[in-house]
Amino acid sequence: MPTENRTTLTPDTPVRYLKGVGPKTAERFEKLGIVTLADLLCHYPRRYIDFSKPYSIAEAPADTECVVKAEVFAKPGGRILPGGRRMERITAGDDVASLEITWFNNPYATQKLQLGQEYYFQGIVTGGMLRRQMVNPQVRTAEQIQAAPFEAVYPQTEGLTSSAISRCIRQLLPHAELLPDPLPPEMLQKYRLLPKAEAVRAIHCPATEEQAAAARRRLIYEELLVLQLGIGRMRSRGAAATGAPMRRADPSPFWQSLPFAPTGAQRRALEEILNDMAGETAMNRLLQGDVGSGKTLVAAAAIWACIRAGYQAALLAPTEILAAQHAEGLNRLLAPFGMRVALLTGGMKAAARRTTLAAIRKDEADLVVGTHALMSEGVEFARLGLAVIDEQHRFGVRQRGALAEKAANPHLLVMSATPIPRTLGLLIYGDLDISILDELPPGRTPVKTRCITGKRRRDLYRFLDSEIDKGRQVYLVCPAIEDVPDGGLNAVKTYYEDIAKALLPDRRVGLMHGKLKPKEKAAVMEDFKAGRLDALVSTTVIEVGVDVPNAAVMVIENAERYGLSALHQLRGRVGRGAAESWCFLVSDNTSEAVQKRLKFLCSTTDGFAVAQYDLETRGPGDFFGSRQHGLPTLQIADLMNDTRTLHAAQSEATALLAADPLLESPAHALLAAPGTHDTHCRQGSAPCRRKVPSPGTVPAGRNFRGCRPETESCRGACAASPAACALRRCRPTQSRNPPAPPRCPFCPASAACPA
Ligand code: ADP
Ligand code: MG
Repeated sequence: MPTENRTTLTPDTPVRYLKGVGPKTAERFEKLGIVTLADLLCHYPRRYIDFSKPYSIAEAPADTECVVKAEVFAKPGGRILPGGRRMERITAGDDVASLEITWFNNPYATQKLQLGQEYYFQGIVTGGMLRRQMVNPQVRTAEQIQAAPFEAVYPQTEGLTSSAISRCIRQLLPHAELLPDPLPPEMLQKYRLLPKAEAVRAIHCPATEEQAAAARRRLIYEELLVLQLGIGRMRSRGAAATGAPMRRADPSPFWQSLPFAPTGAQRRALEEILNDMAGETAMNRLLQGDVGSGKTLVAAAAIWACIRAGYQAALLAPTEILAAQHAEGLNRLLAPFGMRVALLTGGMKAAARRTTLAAIRKDEADLVVGTHALMSEGVEFARLGLAVIDEQHRFGVRQRGALAEKAANPHLLVMSATPIPRTLGLLIYGDLDISILDELPPGRTPVKTRCITGKRRRDLYRFLDSEIDKGRQVYLVCPAIEDVPDGGLNAVKTYYEDIAKALLPDRRVGLMHGKLKPKEKAAVMEDFKAGRLDALVSTTVIEVGVDVPNAAVMVIENAERYGLSALHQLRGRVGRGAAESWCFLVSDNTSEAVQKRLKFLCSTTDGFAVAQYDLETRGPGDFFGSRQHGLPTLQIADLMNDTRTLHAAQSEATALLAADPLLESPAHALLAAPGTHDTHCRQGSAPCRRKVPSPGTVPAGRNFRGCRPETESCRGACAASPAACALRRCRPTQSRNPPAPPRCPFCPASAACPA
């Protein structure tokens, strides 16, 4: 039971109020995107262990995880092995065969086991028929299995195992009614869906397979319906008259100002955009193109036309690095026409921010480039005509809406480098028209991609050295910022010191990661761009959009950690100039599946093929992969496999919106409430899956759902909603334990929050 019985539990009660959840555990939960009790209840299992159909020892499949039922035959005491490891061993058996079971460093493992008693052991059976063995299995009694035959397996994180998560969730299940049911009763009846609380209970602790399936069906339906309603509402926005009517512009002056000719695809895409912008309804267009296809230039041309027509434009980028790069690049393109470009990010000093805000309000800035900060309430445009969103997959449907609401229905252009199958695209981007850049700028040579193991790192560095000799620059990407014990990961800081600097002693090597201050990041990026650095060791903060044409080699350490689409994005950082470019995928993981995936990437540079393959081969357990394939992050539904439900949800959403376009009726109130699935913040280098509320949706004093304070996204989110900030100022808090002083709902403990 939750310890805090005197406080009434609400869905927003922080998980740290649960029994057994201290500050450390709460922090680990946060890594999984779980901050509140509602988050925890909605942390659905990935799969189940079925204890109800155990194998006999002889029939148990070898080297595969399974459940075996056997009686304890012998139970000698434990002993200490040379080297200090402790070992407990028992012999179990049935009528036919016997099984030797060993536990290491777990002195309590055998304590409760009784001789002559039958148990269920879950683990991997190894060895031949004569000596079957199992190491460190989980044990259940017959009574336990009768009560809960299926054991949920959860996505876990460092220091927080699936069974620990399970314990926390189980103590909450009696309170599942805390979660309001967004689906009206008629709908439940019509589609024979379980009520929310019942479904949540059943998904975590099903009595039968059918029950688990029914629970899934209900939860998937809800999730997809909310997604489709969001898209549907965006579409009806698009059908409305635009507040920025423009005359059809002639783009020739812009094209002529460039040092190179636009590609045919770029011209075609721009024509489609200009046609839209000259129409009576607001443009809602998606510009899709592989990495390096030159989407920014098309956006620049559209922005140019918008400013020419007398309006302001805004460009939203997912990271501060990218925002700064866009501001600089666009300024170079637009300044010759007397157009003024401003940069607005969450990391800005208050005074600079005030000046910029005033310029935007007084129409003294023609284009504003920024991060999430652009969506904050203090930002008022004098006459916004066009909003551009770069790297769309980083933002949800709702954020698109938030930017569009900054003015009377401006035109909207979203850009994405993740090609997705067309049928799926229609369902997910159903509210958008699509333009495709299917042609790379001339003179590019495809990036050569190779898989290597860590053993060849020295050879690799010799190659890097020779490339640097030729005047090229290199990227070295690592998955984590700091060392995780036993993580087997190359942490960026130690890698920088111990490997990169050691193996490139005479070279200028820079370090970049999400925990650097925005200023420091900008300085490192500036140095790299200007050629003052030969190599850049970085986390994936450089994943999206960074453009340094002289960089010719990309090295990705622990490549097995990333989805193919993410690797393809990273690879897209090189091959932007005329020089021959290379991408090295370093991985010591020799499993067949991993090697096959990486080899596939070596065999093609076609982003569409990569995305297709990624989606097809992505298993249900591929947590990281699913985060990075570019589709909206969903809690339980799978857009590739749940297409039938997706269609059903789409028609229901259409019907609902026809009857109640703004979802104002009380029965639909919860469906219109801020969803969470499409507002996950996915910035920073660590997998931050915390939810960013849309501005104004968090009542003051309510618990935050913001981002990690160190990431730029936090600053963005916090700045994004000054009104929702109870204090208007985030104080650093000393104690992590409640009761804490009131603080900004977005930044739990951030001195860095400027709001
Ligand atoms: P992405 O589509 O990945 O956002 P970018 O817009 O960053 O690609 O463009 C990649 C690079 O190609 C940039 O350096 C840009 O200046 C260059 N580029 C874009 N269009 C052309 C073109 N038509 N001819 C030559 N280079 C181009
Ligand atoms: Mg780009």
